[in-house]
Amino acid sequence: MPSTARIALNRPLRRLFDYLVPKGLTLKPGQRVKIPFGRQQAIGLVVDTHVEPPAGITLKPVHSALEEWPSLPDETFQLLSWASNYYQHPLGECLFTALPPALRRGRPAIEKTDDWWQACGSGAALPANAHKQKTLLNWIAQHKQGVKGSDIIKAGFTRPQIKALRDKELIQATAPDSESPQSQRYNESIAAPELSAAQFDAASELPPPTAGFSASLLYGITGSGKTEIYLHYLKQNLTDQDQALVLVPEINLTPQTVARFQHYFGERILVWHSALNDSERLSAWLKIRNGEPVILIGTRSAVLLPFTALKTLIVDEEHDSSYKQGEGFRYSGRDLAVYRAHLNGCPVILGSATPSLESYHNALGGKYKLIRLEERAGKALPPTLSLLDIRSRPLEGGLSRPALEAIRQTLDSGNQALVFVNRRGFAPVMMCFDCGHMVECPRCDTRLTYHRRDRAMRCHHCDYQAPATETCPKCASEAFRPVGQGTEQTEDILAASFPDTPVVRVDRDSTQRKGSIQNILKQVNSGKPCILVGTQMLAKGHDFPDVTLVVVVNADGGLFSVDFRAPEQLIQTLLQVSGRAGRGTKAGKVVVQTCHSDHPLLKKLCHGRYLDIADQLLEERESGQLPPFRAMAIFRAEADTMEQSLKILDSIKPLANMPGIEIWGPLPALIARRADRHRAQLVLNTDNRRRLNKVLAATCQSLEQEKMPKSARWMIDVDPQETG
Ligand code: ADP
Ligand code: ZN
Ligand code: ZN
Repeated sequence: MPSTARIALNRPLRRLFDYLVPKGLTLKPGQRVKIPFGRQQAIGLVVDTHVEPPAGITLKPVHSALEEWPSLPDETFQLLSWASNYYQHPLGECLFTALPPALRRGRPAIEKTDDWWQACGSGAALPANAHKQKTLLNWIAQHKQGVKGSDIIKAGFTRPQIKALRDKELIQATAPDSESPQSQRYNESIAAPELSAAQFDAASELPPPTAGFSASLLYGITGSGKTEIYLHYLKQNLTDQDQALVLVPEINLTPQTVARFQHYFGERILVWHSALNDSERLSAWLKIRNGEPVILIGTRSAVLLPFTALKTLIVDEEHDSSYKQGEGFRYSGRDLAVYRAHLNGCPVILGSATPSLESYHNALGGKYKLIRLEERAGKALPPTLSLLDIRSRPLEGGLSRPALEAIRQTLDSGNQALVFVNRRGFAPVMMCFDCGHMVECPRCDTRLTYHRRDRAMRCHHCDYQAPATETCPKCASEAFRPVGQGTEQTEDILAASFPDTPVVRVDRDSTQRKGSIQNILKQVNSGKPCILVGTQMLAKGHDFPDVTLVVVVNADGGLFSVDFRAPEQLIQTLLQVSGRAGRGTKAGKVVVQTCHSDHPLLKKLCHGRYLDIADQLLEERESGQLPPFRAMAIFRAEADTMEQSLKILDSIKPLANMPGIEIWGPLPALIARRADRHRAQLVLNTDNRRRLNKVLAATCQSLEQEKMPKSARWMIDVDPQETG
């Protein structure tokens, strides 16, 4: 019998394709191949060899293999196959997620080393009319260290011009400037402290890689020095040949963390995140695939990379919602890290000051080892937290008098203050106080946010934007005013109240404008008095040693949400943002403004430990029969009308109707219309994960065969983070 291979393509298809393997070619799972597909050629990944093809079909032969080795080594391949089944996402798309873009497109798996050029002659030898060549020669001559071929092209010159100068021996090829993009980026050096006794104890509780698989939940309050423990652990346990993976929520927000790792491990540190370009990705991918002993610091998708000598995985801030991919292949980077450690027989460390209820539940059930670190590192003390009821207080830009007074005192004593606002822009809505009209997005069921700096009204759910008006668009009344607070408004009030103090705004708008959070934070790192105003971005992992006061403008958003995860997320955000205060040698204070100062959750926040609150939240989840006590999956549909969306979901209801599986819906989503698409959802909730997985598989197969309106889309989200 001729040899055959089953191949996956990078397409949203829940099926694989069989091909003949030509004589002389041996294929292995995970290998890249070129195949004829329709009238074109496609790049595929081998899933299986020696399969029994369906009878009566003549198979086409594989064109060629792109390399002799599998792009996806065994363990990576198994991880992705498992994830494809668990998340019910087509195998081909899952497997291709682990390849850098260049390899998905069929480029060779070698690093393209750039050509470098240096001037070595004078333009006097050039003919008078060779203006372009003269300009190029002068330009190259200005770069004494040499210049990259690709930069010459970017500067507007052409390859033939380079060649002409080389042929005349006016420029010569040279060795590249030694700084690679990876080492250029972060070069701060930071002194490494000795571990405190508490840190040392926590570190020694972590099982070493030689003990095989283990999962530890390192619960360490903010500022307890978890990063130092990771560094210490890796230093102690990695041999010169080992690879390690450190997952972080968003690298660009925490350059300090990368700098600290580089200080310890220098060249061994490699980074992986969305801002890398295609050749940087390929280069990092090849190093990992070649088994170089790197310590990779990366965001979510780094967990899918083809490590061959992985000995430790660390997931920092494991509660962070950015570990869950929000579209397409909706995997959880954290959960895959645990599964990967299990496959690979190595330790995984999940660290957080506010562990997810999922991980904490696993720790209580004995699946993870719980390690506690409940004091701050160095001389720092945990901040004190108090609630400030604002029900009957006048507010300016969302800030009450006592809050402004606390900021003034902080600045007067030479320290910095941080003000946390949940919304960017100036105000979440513009309202007419005559006719009651509120400006809504024409494409979504949401209101437009007023951005005063740009004189615009913007939808934060689609890209709709309109110029702001001075009067009510409906009745032309001048009593048309912003309602509620955004970062811009708070920034204005603070700037007016403290004219001599710099006010630094950090949100998606300001970081987009100024390039990076690093530039913005320079001011803060100078240590001089200043006020930071910002959104969630400020809550993430930053170390601001001179911030001694944190003001939370309004804590109430998550208290009464329909999303069952909202209280957990609210508490995590409040504690994380509070954790920015008092990290240096000075004590920190947190003031939380609220209209519900008697709410039990907020009261507990001031006095209890996070784990006590988590215990309570877990009880509520258990009595509500919700995750992590049960498994959940959501089918979502969107179409041109709500009727179509609901119909799609109604059609799968009978398939999902199995004993032990609760079905909620179909119902319109919380934002039922978004960018003119009508969205609905069907929730499945069960204590039988295996049965759920079977039901999902059958339902997806059936949906794929169903005839649907052209505009309709459906998707499946297993272990959803957002349930609204
Ligand atoms: P976490 O990640 O737990 O919030 P970090 O690792 O960022 O905490 O540490 C908080 C601060 O404490 C950092 O400025 C860090 O340099 C400092 N730190 C950590 N460990 C020690 C130690 N053993 N002695 C002195 N300072 C320390
Ligand atoms: Zn009006
Ligand atoms: Zn919109």
